Amino acid sequence: MKEENQNDLMDKIISLAKRRGFIFPSSEIYGGFSSSYDYGPLGTELKYNIKNEWRKEMLQFQDNIVGLDTAILMSPKVWQASGHLSAGFSDLLVECSKCHHRFRDDMVSGNKCPDCNGELMSARKFNLMMKTFVGPVEDDASVTYLRAETCQGIYLNYENVLNSMRLKIPFGIAQIGKSFRNEINPGNFIYRMREFEQMEMQFFINPNESDKWFDYWVEQRLNWYIKLGIKKENLRLHQQTKEELAHYARAAYDIEYKFPFGWKEIEGIHNRGDWDLSNHSKYSGHELNYFDEKTKTKFTPHIIETSAGADRSVLVFLLDAYEEIKGGRTQTTKATKEIETVLKFNSKIAPVKAAVFPLMKNKEPLVKLAKQIYQNLKKNFLVQYDEIDSIGRRYRRQDEIGTPYCITVDFQSVEDKTVTVRDRDTLIQKRIAINNLVDYLNQQLEL
Ligand code: ATP
Repeated sequence: MKEENQNDLMDKIISLAKRRGFIFPSSEIYGGFSSSYDYGPLGTELKYNIKNEWRKEMLQFQDNIVGLDTAILMSPKVWQASGHLSAGFSDLLVECSKCHHRFRDDMVSGNKCPDCNGELMSARKFNLMMKTFVGPVEDDASVTYLRAETCQGIYLNYENVLNSMRLKIPFGIAQIGKSFRNEINPGNFIYRMREFEQMEMQFFINPNESDKWFDYWVEQRLNWYIKLGIKKENLRLHQQTKEELAHYARAAYDIEYKFPFGWKEIEGIHNRGDWDLSNHSKYSGHELNYFDEKTKTKFTPHIIETSAGADRSVLVFLLDAYEEIKGGRTQTTKATKEIETVLKFNSKIAPVKAAVFPLMKNKEPLVKLAKQIYQNLKKNFLVQYDEIDSIGRRYRRQDEIGTPYCITVDFQSVEDKTVTVRDRDTLIQKRIAINNLVDYLNQQLEL
């Protein structure tokens, strides 16, 4: 897509996401709620598919990684040990003396308010942890926090997992879950929210091998996006400078995506050294270390972390798949004048894998056969049945939600038990025997 179209692209994605059931503004009937979004039926499928691919990558394709699902609410001491309650997890915030709007210091240039041009006051620290109370009494003793990152639950269970699963270093623990940050300037749709989902993997290693594993995971994670169809030219690596590094990190690479609003981080790969296990040992008084049977030595493992956002990934997959084609694609008279929208999702990510249409809805034999095919395909894939409007319109509806294959039952189908299968991207239609349909789709979709 050309540069001049880039600014509209976000608007188009937001509008498509709402119209076609991917993402809705939260609490819409109450006027919305700042930077909260709900996933609609197709967005839910899309996000599950992304998370499933991540889980498959970590737990199945990689070696020696196990899964975990830990609590959002933890002892508040966790956040002291992790450094999140101290200055490390604060943003510098500036407030306008006139309209009292607040901004992240690094997001405004000069000392004028971007909203009203008023004078900005001097910057102060603002902690990003979301505070809450546990139990009926709202006093200091009952304060805890919604987790700001999923990985802390992994560190706390390091020993449980190590012992119960009889693991040997190097090994990883992977978890997907919600995190919460009281972001000062959320925005850009689902790019920055206060409630979001992370896909994090912590790889426990011998400190001698940290460079090797750091490089390994940077490469693996970048390739994951490319493997799932994200265009190479829209991805790049950014090595964090000393000033940019988070309080826990010794080295870090960001995987960045070329969003319409600039190159921005979608995933971080961090060398966290022994920060986490050492601090939790210190604060809890419970020693967290590893005994190497071979060398008969005891040490605190170092950690390489891969930390991706599930919501940011959804946005990346939507943006990268979006294509507009001027007229004529579906060869209906009406369509030739219009712009047609296609989401060219990789089939693993596509919410709906195939759609089944009878050529006409008032021809009983066609409808009967199409419904039979639909019922049969449902056992293997998430498929839709559609008999409303012209075939051209039905193709367009499926293109717009990124369905890779459309299957049409016509008069010939009733005669010779074949159907046409239309490919979303090449538009080539092949006649396939109904008996071979499941095999054919399995081969094409490579799920
Ligand atoms: P940023 O610099 O954008 O605030 P970060 O460096 O604080 O991000 P990490 O703490 O490394 O982010 O979190 C890892 C991943 O979690 C990010 O790459 C991003 O995909 C996701 N993430 C972090 N904060 C948010 C948020 N507020 N909304 C949505 N996703 C987020």
